[in-house]
Amino acid sequence: MGMAEGQKIGRASAAVLRERRRRFRRTRVRELKMIAKALASTKHPVLVHIIPMRRCNLDCGYCNEYDDVSKPVPIEEMKRRLDRLADMGTSVITISGGEPLMHPELEEIIRHTRERGMIAGMITNGFLLSKERIRTLNEAGLEHLQISIDNVTPDEVSKKSLKTLDTRLEWLSEFAVFQVNINSVLGSGVKYPEDALTIAHRAVELGFTSTVGIIHDHNGQLKALDPRQIEIFEEIMELGKRSYSRFNDFQHNVARAKEHTWRCRSGSRYLYICEDGLVHWCSQQRGYPGIPLAEYSDEMRHREYETKKFCAPRCTVSCVQQVAMLDNWRDPQNLKPTPKKRAPQTVPAELVQIGSTRVDS
Ligand code: SF4
Ligand code: SF4
Repeated sequence: MGMAEGQKIGRASAAVLRERRRRFRRTRVRELKMIAKALASTKHPVLVHIIPMRRCNLDCGYCNEYDDVSKPVPIEEMKRRLDRLADMGTSVITISGGEPLMHPELEEIIRHTRERGMIAGMITNGFLLSKERIRTLNEAGLEHLQISIDNVTPDEVSKKSLKTLDTRLEWLSEFAVFQVNINSVLGSGVKYPEDALTIAHRAVELGFTSTVGIIHDHNGQLKALDPRQIEIFEEIMELGKRSYSRFNDFQHNVARAKEHTWRCRSGSRYLYICEDGLVHWCSQQRGYPGIPLAEYSDEMRHREYETKKFCAPRCTVSCVQQVAMLDNWRDPQNLKPTPKKRAPQTVPAELVQIGSTRVDS
């Protein structure tokens, strides 16, 4: 995960390397505490994805998790939501979107997350990164950043390409003191699967970790890769073999569209908070339970912990599966889901990260 400790990368100065090592160690200690706390008690959320802004500066052909008009969630409201999550005992916050770098007070959101004792991560398309923005993210206390790159050269479907982003990756390699992960993609609609390999190798060369995502169907469900894609997938998994994934078969099952047995603890140990402040199981199952965070009680969370998710056997959402590993060995799920409270505006199709060492993705 992130840049390897102590690794000499690019032209990073001695001061950046020192601060990078310091932040890496501190984050690692906090992650170990997070795991110990999660094993000791099932009563708090481990990971929360929160959306401060649905708007995005890009328009990737496969994505319907964004719009080009919505306003940022006001900072006071974001702080209220973060306070509520901190009071629940949440360990990790991942800021996602839309494009979080478009939020004018993103750094304040990160700062508040850290002040409330939670690990702060972010998923971004990276286009709005500059040397100055990397500096302000360093100062705000960001701990993890993930960029998804879809191809080597931009095409009509996606501009998130290595060619477009490479200068920004070099700036990250030189100036970022937080950990950086580059996610490449495989699956239907990806024209050149070899691109994923090129992207993963470049990520490692720059001192980042790399993961690979699989494009799944519109409900986050399985779709098998072809044999060449499987080969590439296995090679990238090998590149990122420090991953927790070596402890389970989830990612390998996803690549081959095999069903798997696990207990999805979304709505309890994992929460997805949309821009309207509603709690959802995950980005793929928005509307369950669809209850405002301010009204989301301990009882509701505990009920979701014991609720069997109908979508679990064919699910591809690896970050939720990683969180579930903490509890798979205990507490069988016997409750049925309550009906949807609010239907999602759109049915999202998104890229799923596979093989991450992080739980905040
Ligand atoms: S995939 Fe990411 S960058 Fe592309 S439109 Fe969706 S939110 Fe924006
Ligand atoms: S099993 Fe869980 S993470 Fe997967 S799609 Fe269903 S609710 Fe989402």
